[in-house]
Amino acid sequence: MEVTPCPNPKPHFVVIPWPVTSHMIPMVDIGCLLAAHGAPVTIITPPSSAQLVQSRVDRASAGHGGSAGISITVTALPFPGAEAGLPEGCERLDHVPSVDLVPNFFDANAQFGDAVARHCRRLLTHRRPSCIVAGMCNTWAHGVSRELGAPCFIFHGFGAFALLCCEYLNTHKPHEGKSLDELIDVPVLPPPFEFKFARRQLPLQFLPSCSIPEHRLRELREFEMAVDGIVVNSFEELEHDSAARLAAATGKTVLAVGPVSLCGGGARAPPSLLDFRAASSVDDDSRRCVAWLDAKKAESSSSVLYVSFGSAGRMPPAQLMQLGRALVSCSWPVLWVIKGADTLPDDVSEWLQCNTDGGDGQCLVVRGWAPQVAILEHPAVGGFLTHCGWGSTLESVAAGVPMATWPFSAEQFLNEKLIVGVLGIGVSVGVTKPTEGVLTGAKDGGGAGKAKADVAMEQVKRALDMLMDGGADGEARRTKATELKAKAKSALEHGGSSYMNLEKLIQFAA
Ligand code: UDP
Repeated sequence: MEVTPCPNPKPHFVVIPWPVTSHMIPMVDIGCLLAAHGAPVTIITPPSSAQLVQSRVDRASAGHGGSAGISITVTALPFPGAEAGLPEGCERLDHVPSVDLVPNFFDANAQFGDAVARHCRRLLTHRRPSCIVAGMCNTWAHGVSRELGAPCFIFHGFGAFALLCCEYLNTHKPHEGKSLDELIDVPVLPPPFEFKFARRQLPLQFLPSCSIPEHRLRELREFEMAVDGIVVNSFEELEHDSAARLAAATGKTVLAVGPVSLCGGGARAPPSLLDFRAASSVDDDSRRCVAWLDAKKAESSSSVLYVSFGSAGRMPPAQLMQLGRALVSCSWPVLWVIKGADTLPDDVSEWLQCNTDGGDGQCLVVRGWAPQVAILEHPAVGGFLTHCGWGSTLESVAAGVPMATWPFSAEQFLNEKLIVGVLGIGVSVGVTKPTEGVLTGAKDGGGAGKAKADVAMEQVKRALDMLMDGGADGEARRTKATELKAKAKSALEHGGSSYMNLEKLIQFAA
């Protein structure tokens, strides 16, 4: 009997996202990319996200010629939220109803780590994990990887430039003892670049008011120092050598493997279906957005302004009104995504209904989840007002769309500097303070719900006019954005930098 030689099996990756919507999206995409390179992948998730993860995998898999093309197993393990004092079914950080419950979420996630460890031990008998890629707060993953004798890579969700800034802050601690208004020098790239941030603009872990308990922050730092390497959703040509500088600063392997939103393989990436609601209602919203954009494209290409502040970002109602007034006074069509619309005060809801939903169809509001990647790639879209979350930033880069920047919190002020000051593809709205109650918005009746508007309508309008302007500066931004789009696409093509880094990751694990 003739024996067919067994092809060299590729290492088996276990991908464990930190359960937050905006981390799950790119980590599932990383799983899809590894699988497209021939590596078998298991993605471990809490039960309530399993179906949505599976649907994203199915779409990527369809882009690679169907399920025979790539091998991904989605495994749901119990997430003991209720045992840790969270509301029933609360299995993602962005579903936590109040910041007071953030420590409980970390406790539940620690228990989840025990379930993951037990599952990985079971896998040893038939599908040995060769490498773990773990979300930034899954600190227990390092212990699991050591027990399995497999390397462990961390995924932070930040870009390489922001990670480099964080590494500088962790090492040199220039923020310590500073007031929230004091400027801090973060010299991570050579001149002519200069980066100064008020302390209040730094990521959460560098603020005195951080909602993550101190012992958890220590665990996070220990985890990032212990791992074998860092996987970044970026590409080497984008961030001025930040990935190489990060490798030098940390002594770790740093692999930029993005933009991972292009993992669908085809010209158009799969719409993002990770949402709080049923996939069918997300599909309805998707169809509505794309039909509206198609109609706008028929009138004029690159004319639509897309406005969205991430998977959960909410602003206080008074601020939302200033933004709304600026948007409805624009001369170009606007597609505006609003999170937490059901918690807005009646007068704001009424204003929205009267001014956006009817009549001339110039401002379409999506109250919930929008198919962001498909929107940004639509030829009708010419600009993006963004909170500078790294996922949104890179999706905009991948689509060649210039941005107006309105950072809310986390590392978003760092990303703004990269977008505007380094890459030259953005206009800053000029926001100086983080937005209060990003997760809770108007629900927080006594706090962020009553907060005044820091950014006036005129200020927003000025930035948007510059962004959508047809003059020389606007043209220069569009040209740079188009160049970066081409580089982003090449990075993932055969032989490109991200393609090669995915191969390196696979070799590292082999
Ligand atoms: N997103 C989406 N539809 C929405 C809102 C967000 O598809 O209505 C996706 C977006 O494409 C991105 C992620 O959610 O992949 C948001 O991640 P980002 O890092 O920009 O912001 P965060 O949610 O962490 O603030």
